[in-house]
Amino acid sequence: MRLNILAFAAGIIALQMQPELPAAWPWALAGLALAVPAVRWCNVPPVRVLGVLACLALGFAWAAWRADIRLADALPAAWEGRDIEVVGVVAALPQDFSQGSRFEFAVEKVSTVAAVVPQRIMLSWYQGQRDDEEFIRQPLKPGERWQMTVRLKRPHGNANPNGFDYEAWLLERNIRATGYVRQNPPQRLVEMVWRPDYVVERLRLGVRDSFTTLLPAENYPWAGILVALVVGDQRAIQGDLWTTFNRTGTTHLMSISGLHVTMVAALFGLLTGFVWRRVPTLALRLPAQRAALLAGCLAAFFYVLLAGFAVPAQRTLYMLLVAALAMNSGRVIAPSRTLLLALLVVLLIDPWAVLAAGFWLSFGAVGALLYVGSAVVGEADGWRARIRSWGVVQWAATLASLPVLLLVFQQFSLVSPLANAVAIPVVSFVITPLALLAAVIPWWPIAALAHAVLGWLMLFLEWCATWPVWQAPAPPLWAAVVAGIGVAVCLLPRGMPGRLLGVALLLPAIFWPVARPPEGEAWITVLDVGQGLATVVRTREHTLIYDPGPLYSAESDAGQRVVVPYLRSLGIDAVDVLMVTHRDSDHAGGMASVQSALAVGKVLSSLGEGAGEPCRNGQNWTWNGVRLTVLHPAADDYAEKRKSNNLSCVLRIEASGTRMLLTSDIEARDEAAMLQRDPAALAADVLLVPHHGSRTSSTPEFIAAVAAKDVLIPVGYRNRFGHPKADVVERYGAAGTRLWRTDRDGALRVELGTNGAGIAAWRDERRRYWHGR
Ligand SMILES: [Zn+2]
Repeated sequence: MRLNILAFAAGIIALQMQPELPAAWPWALAGLALAVPAVRWCNVPPVRVLGVLACLALGFAWAAWRADIRLADALPAAWEGRDIEVVGVVAALPQDFSQGSRFEFAVEKVSTVAAVVPQRIMLSWYQGQRDDEEFIRQPLKPGERWQMTVRLKRPHGNANPNGFDYEAWLLERNIRATGYVRQNPPQRLVEMVWRPDYVVERLRLGVRDSFTTLLPAENYPWAGILVALVVGDQRAIQGDLWTTFNRTGTTHLMSISGLHVTMVAALFGLLTGFVWRRVPTLALRLPAQRAALLAGCLAAFFYVLLAGFAVPAQRTLYMLLVAALAMNSGRVIAPSRTLLLALLVVLLIDPWAVLAAGFWLSFGAVGALLYVGSAVVGEADGWRARIRSWGVVQWAATLASLPVLLLVFQQFSLVSPLANAVAIPVVSFVITPLALLAAVIPWWPIAALAHAVLGWLMLFLEWCATWPVWQAPAPPLWAAVVAGIGVAVCLLPRGMPGRLLGVALLLPAIFWPVARPPEGEAWITVLDVGQGLATVVRTREHTLIYDPGPLYSAESDAGQRVVVPYLRSLGIDAVDVLMVTHRDSDHAGGMASVQSALAVGKVLSSLGEGAGEPCRNGQNWTWNGVRLTVLHPAADDYAEKRKSNNLSCVLRIEASGTRMLLTSDIEARDEAAMLQRDPAALAADVLLVPHHGSRTSSTPEFIAAVAAKDVLIPVGYRNRFGHPKADVVERYGAAGTRLWRTDRDGALRVELGTNGAGIAAWRDERRRYWHGR
């Protein structure tokens, strides 16, 4: 049976890697056809292979069928960006951010004639001035029915190598369009729609509000963590605290992860069992063990409800229920079988779970605990042995998380076993239960006690954060899988031969060498950062950032969201030159984040004083046989105090006779100035198009002088400027060039070298069936 479940899971994983969605029915038929003989002759060992193959095909078919249904609920492209009037219910706890608030909306009725809107959408309601429009936000509570005019778009996220797949995240949560509320005054129709899920969301709001009243943020710096632990609102945690958690490997503790749900269930179960055994009348009615199981499951269920039924918490709940049923049946079922049954339940309900790092982390950790823990903890006798076994379990769980952490975050905290050995029991057994108690009884002393314990823990974690962190480039998937097998071998019981072999299997993932350009070649990646520009230029030994990307909001920018994670995934934590072409926030917005996260050798910019050396026409240097030359602005452009676009630094990269020209936001007059200085200097094989394809730039004379075969346009999906302009695109098209754009193609990777220029688009290389749908 275990092998069959694994085969079913493998079928689901295979489907989630498909570039196009295949039809489900041929696979379902094939699976059933194979299953019939497999069941009929199940005692004949060779026939079991048929059973495994049947499960593989059925897993594939199951995931395909579910995806087909989900994708059918879509916003037609024709209705993107148009005003649509809808009636619906605020379906979840709204999340506030600096410019407004964001919430899920369950659509009940579409009033606009002929408009089609998916059942569940995510809306932003802005406050204040935005894109030349004035917004006034009204207070919003879950469970309220509203009539509003909205503008929607299909799910779209940035597509970058090793980047977060926002479109997959939306798909798993069944949010099939995103958009914003128009200032066409929305109307609250009903105060409360009485449906169980809305009632729960309203309760969560009450709990969050009561925490902010009991523990005002001015005096209680860590109150946000308590809110995150109780209602799963992670935005309540301030940004800089995440650095501490990341460096100590304790991030998972600050969200309602599988761990807390399990611990809360265990705590309630143990308490109930303890009381039950001491009250004979109770024990007569129901055996103490059953009562404990029931109490544990109920506690887990209510906690998961309070957490907003978030996907990761849900997964744990299903796992716990399977485990409890197995225990309740009284049969001795191998822990591995329980775990796999839970896996099956999770995947039947949510076949997209395999796309989430958290899924693998929680199954890996629980698997390791079962694998090692059941053997170690059971036999421990005396407090010393107990502490030792607790240490072993921590070590096992930490080791099990290594492959996933390297694959997804490229970071592994060396202090994490120690930090977790202390933090897990304190958070799970003391802080979380106290915070939950404070949620039920909003009495200041309880909340304050939880906050005080948390304060002590934070002191310890801040000390741990000073320890070194292992950073490694992202290994390929196969190396991570091999490392997973290695972990299992390492955790074999003592005395088993081959444990050293396990260590050897870990090595490729830990020491994966990153591919680097050979001498005389340059690799350039134009990252997909939405409307704006962020580019990374690499030679064999050097790295240059050509613009760190746009500012998204007061809390986030492309530097921290896209550029730094991309470089980390390549194992790069130092750049030789940070070139910030001009001061506009769609180019310079990520500057501070890049400077704080990476070691920056030199800054070249047109920003003026305090922002490094000014870039100037004529600057040039050679890295590993690659020639880099600045072509604009000229020295007198600074003297004339031109506007920011006209000061954009223009960079030419020449590798073995192949050239790429990067032009940031120059305009027609700058193109003319460069043409006048030296038209031959502009000739290039690849051109990063000026000013996102705006009409201010790309004059026919400039296009002719550059004569590029490939032109790259960095633009945001459905950006408000309408970039790139159709006539500009046509101008390039007329010259017989190939056109690439980041909104359609994702990150663009250019290889310049002896063989000319090779270009690859990330959305082609890593296409998935849900992209753009
Ligand atoms: Zn720009």
